Amino acid sequence: MPELPEVETTVRAINKFENRILKEVIIHNKNLRWKVEKKVETLTRNQLVHKITRRAKYILIYFDKQCLMVHLGMSGKLRIQKSNNNYFKKHDHAEFIFKDEKIIFNDVRRFGSIHLCENPDKHRLIKDLGVEPLSKSFSKSYMKDICKNSNLCIKKLIMDQKNVVGVGNIYASESLFLAKINPSRLSKEVSDNECEKLVKSIKIILKKAIKMGGTTIKDFYSADGNEGYFSLKLNVYGRDSMVCNKCNTKIIKSIIGQRATYSCTKCQL
Ligand SMILES: [Zn+2]
Repeated sequence: MPELPEVETTVRAINKFENRILKEVIIHNKNLRWKVEKKVETLTRNQLVHKITRRAKYILIYFDKQCLMVHLGMSGKLRIQKSNNNYFKKHDHAEFIFKDEKIIFNDVRRFGSIHLCENPDKHRLIKDLGVEPLSKSFSKSYMKDICKNSNLCIKKLIMDQKNVVGVGNIYASESLFLAKINPSRLSKEVSDNECEKLVKSIKIILKKAIKMGGTTIKDFYSADGNEGYFSLKLNVYGRDSMVCNKCNTKIIKSIIGQRATYSCTKCQL
């Protein structure tokens, strides 16, 4: 599933469409996770794109008064193609057509979505989301605040989108390894010093993944056609039959909140 680094990579790949005119959006299949409203086609004709950015895993394409919100869901991806190239793949559900090029939205499982709204920050899907992990708001003091009275284990806490967005399962396991914190520890028992280390680790891991073009297990290509997988070196995730790179202890797999969790019991206390 495309995680925050893949979405960020995708945003960077389509950034070149800023300051261009979107001629039209064509929806071939409106039955995505939520039915695509007619206004996505009617209100976006010949609109100048001011900005293309991201909030959590939503790709935001801003026009004068409206904003397109695109979510890639479980299997969605964008690709760029010449406008006059009529090559289609199965599961191409939408086209965003510019003068020379177009962006195509392909989504095998149709858990993705396309919305048009005036202010994405007030949209029901975005308004209650937590801070961005790479922003200044995600700081040691913020982490201390959310840990302070929480009886959740630390891995669940950092994966809760209401606290901080975009720390998916792989990145949570890897960040906790880097911060030397056992994923099953109670949040309220994580020290101030560890809070600081964890915030730093999450930022490091996500930045690394973005630099590598995103790291998910299968089937992701960034919009410019480059493969974005298996590039981040994983220390614990998926390595349960192997030994820790740091101490040679066997990596263990446990289940936390129904999600596979990997850790080194010697390195992570
Ligand atoms: Zn170890």
